[in-house]
Amino acid sequence: MRFIKPLALAFLLPATFYGVEAKMPTSLTTQARAVLSQDSLALNQKLPFDNEVVTGKLKNGFTYFIRKNIEPKGRVTMYLGMKAGSILENEKQLGLAHFLEHMNFNGLKHFPKNELVNYLQKAGVRFGSDLNAYTSFDQTVYQLPIPSDDPELLENGLQVMRDWAQDALLDGEEIDKERGVILEEKRGGRGVQQRLQDQYFPMVLNGSLYSKRLPIGTEEILKTFPYTEIRKFHQDWYRPDLQALIIVGDIDPKAIEEKVKVLFSDMTMPKKVPQRKEYRVDLLNKNQFLAISDPELPYTVAQVLIKNEKDKVLTVGDYRNELLKNIFNQMIAGRFSELMQQPNPPFMQAGGSIGDFVANLNTFSLLVVPKPGELESGFKAMLTEFERIQKYGFTQTELDRALADMKKGNEMAYIERDKKKSDSYVNRYLNYFIDNEPALSNEVSYRLTTQLLPTLKLEEVNGLVKKYYTDLNRDILIMGPEKEKANLPTEQAVLGWVKAVEDSPVSAYEDKVSNLPLLSKEPTKGTIVSSKDIGAVQAKELVLSNGVKVILKPTDFKNDEIQIMAYSPGGTSLYTDADYFSASNASSLVDASGVGQMSNVELTKYLAGKEVSISPYISERYEGISGSTDKEGLKNAFELIYGYFTEPRLDTDVFQSTMTRAKGSLENRLSNPNNVFSDKVKEVLYGNNVRRQNATVETLTKIERDRALAIYKERFADASDFVFTIVGSFDENEIKPFIETYLASLPASKRGENYKDLNILEPSKGERVVVHKGKEEKASTQLAYYGDYNYSENENVNMEALESVLTIKLLERLREKEGGVYGVGARASFNKLPKPRYAFSIGFGSAVDKTDPLISSALDEVKKIQDQGPDKVDIEKFVAEQKRQNELNLRENGYWLNYISSSYQNNLDINRYTRRMENLNKVTPKSVQEIAEKYLKKERLFEFILMPDSK
Ligand SMILES: [Zn+2]
Repeated sequence: MRFIKPLALAFLLPATFYGVEAKMPTSLTTQARAVLSQDSLALNQKLPFDNEVVTGKLKNGFTYFIRKNIEPKGRVTMYLGMKAGSILENEKQLGLAHFLEHMNFNGLKHFPKNELVNYLQKAGVRFGSDLNAYTSFDQTVYQLPIPSDDPELLENGLQVMRDWAQDALLDGEEIDKERGVILEEKRGGRGVQQRLQDQYFPMVLNGSLYSKRLPIGTEEILKTFPYTEIRKFHQDWYRPDLQALIIVGDIDPKAIEEKVKVLFSDMTMPKKVPQRKEYRVDLLNKNQFLAISDPELPYTVAQVLIKNEKDKVLTVGDYRNELLKNIFNQMIAGRFSELMQQPNPPFMQAGGSIGDFVANLNTFSLLVVPKPGELESGFKAMLTEFERIQKYGFTQTELDRALADMKKGNEMAYIERDKKKSDSYVNRYLNYFIDNEPALSNEVSYRLTTQLLPTLKLEEVNGLVKKYYTDLNRDILIMGPEKEKANLPTEQAVLGWVKAVEDSPVSAYEDKVSNLPLLSKEPTKGTIVSSKDIGAVQAKELVLSNGVKVILKPTDFKNDEIQIMAYSPGGTSLYTDADYFSASNASSLVDASGVGQMSNVELTKYLAGKEVSISPYISERYEGISGSTDKEGLKNAFELIYGYFTEPRLDTDVFQSTMTRAKGSLENRLSNPNNVFSDKVKEVLYGNNVRRQNATVETLTKIERDRALAIYKERFADASDFVFTIVGSFDENEIKPFIETYLASLPASKRGENYKDLNILEPSKGERVVVHKGKEEKASTQLAYYGDYNYSENENVNMEALESVLTIKLLERLREKEGGVYGVGARASFNKLPKPRYAFSIGFGSAVDKTDPLISSALDEVKKIQDQGPDKVDIEKFVAEQKRQNELNLRENGYWLNYISSSYQNNLDINRYTRRMENLNKVTPKSVQEIAEKYLKKERLFEFILMPDSK
């Protein structure tokens, strides 16, 4: 159970509520028709509510939204949203809104003790990823996605929602058991971010109640609160007038509505109802400043928050304003991304955007991460860009590109409206219920956006900067590493910088757009020499005249999505240690440099309004291409692929910029305890092998631009051993001409290459390694086993089962029984090539003095499985979960792309997926026990422990 961190350290992005949603043109409400039928839109017209959802309010005040949606088939998602969160706590209840959220998983009227989780796991629902909940200042939300093809489960799912709404048992013993779990959740959140947040929250939240009601609460209250306090909170706030049920899925809405009426009508309002006040953060009409430091912060960050009242979105005109803001944000992002590609960028990262803040507030938020020791120049450079925008505005060409992008997004959403996932509808109704945000139907949202986009004027977008970029209600927040403490500026100094920027001359932005075609030379078409069916996966394998293989699998999982993946053996394994850093960074540098006759900046502009993304990669044993496109973008996608083979570039500007920024971000990497820990783990496992080291400032110096480009070219010089897999909504005859023109024409010398087995293996004998680093009193533990593996379908499914049953046992023991951890889990991985190997690990965070007892408990659970085999019921849970997951996978383009590609890459039987259920059904306690005995051998165990600094 997570609680939402209300504010992240980095700047907050605005919620893009427009344009990303769309669906069936069913009967529109009269209100919607009125909005859409007019030639000229009346901006003061109210936005119509989504007519595709069944909604209502019961007499007791309980609200529901029910919508039929058949993607994915046989599934339904249920949410219970509540207008209650930590802001409603009193001084004695700090942390109890969130605590209560946990208690809803620890004893309900119809599911006492742990029965809820137990029951749902048996039905194939995954705890944590499917079944979950969160608590924030103003809301608490519970989520439950379940299969809808099992009537009993559907019935019970509704009962769970009903119990969550008002029937938590709040048994004293269960409350006491949960205290440890929540204290561990709090401990896990401790670190540099939280220490800084504690300091800046009072300022950025203007000293409002919000700054005193963080959802996680205080240690003292979490440890000592009396049962009566949490029961009182439950009684006061878990009530029908503050709750809404949202159900979206493959169901009959009318039948479900009847059930909801029966099940929820008996909920009662408490006798004396406290008023649910709307809390605010009042504007102080002054500017604020704070400069703070922390020893574990690796670089300096400066943030400017300009606060103002949030705009309500009720009318067509309001909706139009939101579109303007979004266009504005997009153009700012474009400007900064261009700046970052200068050979010597003025900062490591910078940007700005208008977005929602907390409660009633909006912010215009500016951020800069300067290069080490260059705060003043970085800050000024960031501000200068906003001065430039204020003085000259954006250009019409910038606006045109942003509009094209937005138009494309709107159209894509509309085209895919009948393939939209049930989960993605939930927020529309949740935000409508909790925050009064508009909930437009797919049809209205599409048509409104289509009609409004062409009406957006440059001077209007330019006007936004004048409205939002003001010097009142402005907070300036500077955070730096401890060693910079003495150099952190005073408020006077920073105001001086602001003034200096305002007084300096600034020139207009020049929009550089290339008129050259992407490729300098058009390819010479090749041919498809053979074609055969791969019946098992309904795909076709083509062999091209240059030797390239292409596997085509057309699907109807999406209406307009095509995914592409290609590989060829080789990779960095073919280069010496001295060349390794140039080789391993080559593809990302090339990817950042544009392609053919276009620099990256030009390429980004060229691709505006297109749904195309193609990138090259070089990994340890392979090089290749990955990406996706829609039908309209096919030609561009293939041009890009051809370009990455024949006309790659590695621009000096991009190289220098990347190095400068990487150096800045790595300079203080060892102030982060996790980096110190990770370095040590790698050293123990792989000695000082350069191919397993983390990137450092020193390794950066070993990257040579010319060598990187030469290696890249060498990797992509011979396409004859490339295998392309293309999955998605294409027509075979439509795609073949592109394949002949752009793939069959790729250079091929038929050099017949393979990768090299580098033989980098973990030691066969384990050891205990303790690293001391970090200020917080917390520990992090990784238990791990490595070794040779007997790769087979049977071994693999049993390894997966072991991971699953051990995770269940670890949660029951370390979390539920001992209250020693918040999260704990086992993880298995295995591979066939270059030689069959496995890795199996168990990880958790805890209190320092609990580390050893918890390791003992974890290993005791391992031993139990080895001695007695796992519980049969846990195997059943694993099989149920996998069966349900499998049903979903088989309807995803991404799943088939990986499946087919890895079948070729690893030389695996392409029919194996048809045996998945059979293999799952063969798993027994005995077969899993054998796997545990075989692979989790005591002498192979590594215990990696991160502890705080020794005193
Ligand atoms: Zn939690």
